[in-house]
Amino acid sequence: MRITALFAWLFLSLQTANAQSEYATYAKKMLDTLSSGFLYGRGHVEQGEKKASYMIATEFYKMRLQTFSPAPSYYQNFSISANIFPEVPTIAIDNNWLVCGTEFLPHPASGPLRGSFPITVVDSTVLRKASAFKKIGRKGLKGRVLVLDDKGLNEDSRKILQNLASHNPWGAIAIIELVDKLTFGISDKSKTYAHLHVKRSLFPKDSRQLRVNIQTAFIPEIMSQNVTGYVLGKEVKDTMIVFCAHFDHLGQIGRHVIFPGANDNASGVAMMLALANYYRKPENQPRYSIAFIGFGAEELGLLGSLYYVRNPIIPLSRIKLLINLDMMGNGGEGITVVNAEASKRKFGVLERINREKNYVSTIKARANAPNSDHYPFSRVGVPAFFMYTMGGSKAYHDIYDQRDSISWKYFDSVFNLLTDFTHAIQE
Ligand SMILES: [Zn+2]
Repeated sequence: MRITALFAWLFLSLQTANAQSEYATYAKKMLDTLSSGFLYGRGHVEQGEKKASYMIATEFYKMRLQTFSPAPSYYQNFSISANIFPEVPTIAIDNNWLVCGTEFLPHPASGPLRGSFPITVVDSTVLRKASAFKKIGRKGLKGRVLVLDDKGLNEDSRKILQNLASHNPWGAIAIIELVDKLTFGISDKSKTYAHLHVKRSLFPKDSRQLRVNIQTAFIPEIMSQNVTGYVLGKEVKDTMIVFCAHFDHLGQIGRHVIFPGANDNASGVAMMLALANYYRKPENQPRYSIAFIGFGAEELGLLGSLYYVRNPIIPLSRIKLLINLDMMGNGGEGITVVNAEASKRKFGVLERINREKNYVSTIKARANAPNSDHYPFSRVGVPAFFMYTMGGSKAYHDIYDQRDSISWKYFDSVFNLLTDFTHAIQE
């Protein structure tokens, strides 16, 4: 009996320690699906981005969010281009094969290449000796691989190397940049030469030959989409507060190198859907209308939000505040608000609520920057914040941005801060 009581107590106390709101449970389910293999990293291999947009529209439909007339659909379609890697590239440096994802990555705009080629290294020793540098320039690098190592270089020399990598003035057949951290992206350009990033520690200085097989496919026209729905306000129906989050990520390289993008930005979409799930309930119906926008093609250069600003569904002058959620997967070190200075009074309200309720440890203000979907709106004068959480995993645009690195401990605090804030700015 005593043991049973002890177990019951243990069970109950464990439950209380992990107690999370129904919104956190729902958001976790959404994030798990968005960053799972079913959505292929939400890029353009296996139509991952499109499948993610279906998932969001299905959630909007289940929540009975309103669509904007005259388009009785949640979708806003637009066309993009993308350079993709249908197969996992293989490379060997002097017969030492490297693993794609953890040891090397193609540059997102890399062109295709197959064969074996000799290597020329440009590093600090070459850059310091003007004669050695000139010698390479005179001979050119036709049929050779140019390896750029910026270790130990000052800012000016680094710029020279970056310029070489992006212009390839010596006509190298391939360029390898040595890096300490591998970072991937997505590009709507395709270079005429192969371009790779290799971990510096895996490249012996005296390497002589690269064996390589990179296949690329440039798709000039892919249909991308934004997904938009809203909850009608009780009193002010035609002015909106907007929550948005981009649902696309970097996709896959071939079938086996996946970029799950759990923090960037399954976490923001999960937060946005949880907020929609809250506001759609009659007891939480807001005073102003609240819109929810999932943006596509953010990773290609904010293309979804740029398209939206040029073709607005909600007149831009009717947006009271746009809150862009991108990288919401932690919160242990608080949150940052980009473009806070443009809406000082509202930022003050956010700070006051946090002081009173102690939701997150800090709220940092940061100057505006073109680093997410709030930016095109801010450029045309729409009041717009970009919020991201701080702390936790440093994974960014790599294969390690996985759901296990998301912390759910702070979800409810951030969620409550957002709903309290939204309530306050409707007064
Ligand atoms: Zn992002």
